[in-house]
Amino acid sequence: MTTTSAPTTTTGDVAGDAVVGHWIDGAHVPSTSGRTAPVYDPARGVVTKQVALADEREVQAAIASAAAAFPAWSELSLSKRQQIMFSFREILNRDKAELAEIITSEHGKVVSDALGEIARGQEVVELATSIPQLLKGEFSDQVSTGIDVYSIRQPLGVVGIISPFNFPAMVPLWFLPIAIAAGNTVVLKPSEKDPSAALWLAAKFTEAGLPPGVFTVLNGDKVAVDGLLTSPDVESISFVGSTPIAQYVYETGTKHGKRVQALGGAKNHMLVLPDADLDLVADNAINAGFGSAGERCMAISVVVAVEPVADELIAKIAERAATLRIGDGRRGCDMGPLVTEQHRDKVASYIEVAEQDGAVIVVDGRTVRPDGDENGFWLGPTLIDQVPTSSRVYTEEIFGPVLSVVRVASYEEGLALINGGAYGNGTAIFTNDGGAARRFQRDVQVGMIGINVPIPVPVAYYSFGGWKNSLFGDHKAYGADGVSFFTRQKAVTSRWLDPSHGGVDLGFPSNS
Ligand code: NAD
Repeated sequence: MTTTSAPTTTTGDVAGDAVVGHWIDGAHVPSTSGRTAPVYDPARGVVTKQVALADEREVQAAIASAAAAFPAWSELSLSKRQQIMFSFREILNRDKAELAEIITSEHGKVVSDALGEIARGQEVVELATSIPQLLKGEFSDQVSTGIDVYSIRQPLGVVGIISPFNFPAMVPLWFLPIAIAAGNTVVLKPSEKDPSAALWLAAKFTEAGLPPGVFTVLNGDKVAVDGLLTSPDVESISFVGSTPIAQYVYETGTKHGKRVQALGGAKNHMLVLPDADLDLVADNAINAGFGSAGERCMAISVVVAVEPVADELIAKIAERAATLRIGDGRRGCDMGPLVTEQHRDKVASYIEVAEQDGAVIVVDGRTVRPDGDENGFWLGPTLIDQVPTSSRVYTEEIFGPVLSVVRVASYEEGLALINGGAYGNGTAIFTNDGGAARRFQRDVQVGMIGINVPIPVPVAYYSFGGWKNSLFGDHKAYGADGVSFFTRQKAVTSRWLDPSHGGVDLGFPSNS
């Protein structure tokens, strides 16, 4: 991240300024750090604004505001917190087109896809409206004579959220609603590549009645992240991003005594058995491989075809790839640009690696002719057959519209491949054999599994998270794990004396 003086315009800037600042104490706050990074419109390839990169003083101011808001917010009744969540849900639903446009203008994904991520985020808001139910404790009557035991859940305090570029609204919404509804105050550090969605959410939460300081947006880079990780006033960190940073965040945060959930990268495989419906498989491989230009942590990046289906399946995928319209997300295209020029070039470099490693390029995205500005960060859908499992194309997360095919001879060989990988985020099996699907769901070492479903992102009342290098920590996002992560449980053992009780007894308490 560098300080830059690149030209700016105010296009799409929610703050109305050329520099996207912070949201502290319930209002936009311009940055005083003097450090900025450029924000692009990826479909036009131009810098549209700058984002502030907080310095240590700004980090401390953000945390102090959240800490000051905590006592009153955590004291507020559940029903009042619930009402704010209901109001926010209505506002989000009412104004989602505006948010989708902001996402498309900074991320590049097509508008319908931006609306899709908002809908999945809204699900978690809806879950959080049931916070009185979610926070209910347990009660055991008469565990010993005259003694009852019960549990209560209390908020942690100030909690930090650090989000990636690829879902600038949905990922913050995986955590925010439950954290806030449970009585915590939040400091969100969005990705510096697309920071405006977070500010939009903060403004709408304020409109919904959230008091100042309960939700803070701190824009920045490593300085802001490190400030959150080391502050004694921050109780927990929820991180989503690449595996090396997830591991760093987990290790640094836990070393500083925090509760940390850090979701990392992925390399999701789709196992295709010979009895599968290949038209259905080809449709789903296209959707899951190239939707959002492959910049989804649940994107399918490897099709594992159990022979003899590979030739027929590849022909069907290639046929469909040729029908996709690549271009500006505001023009009704199927797939937009990649997020930055640098990322586009990195993704495209894997196609060269594939060629060098002897794979077969079936569809080459480097020759794409987009419906959009020639300066946009374009790369078309790319399909690569016979990818050696020793190639970096197979072993590394590419995070772009590059779909690899690996041919295997049996279910067992395919399963071993999936289980041998470093990541364990999502996977899918395509088959008409219920027994095989059931065996797969039990055998595969992956956190989220689709059976004839390519992107099995769990609904809000289950929890989202992978295994192995895809999740550091013990808690997944949202669902029951989310409630558990953002609260501490107390167990209370209670006795109200009745007239018959009395006497001294130094023995260890036991049930009688
Ligand atoms: P990233 O790791 O580069 O950045 C994520 C966050 O970490 C950003 O807010 C960024 O500012 C911050 N960051 C970056 N470098 C840092 C450093 N050196 N020190 C401290 N903080 C730093 O990830 P990204 O490119 O924004 O997002 C794409 C990645 O996120 C992919 O690997 C993708 O698989 C992953 N992802 C995972 C999930 C999941 O649920 N497992 C979901 C979405 C994205």
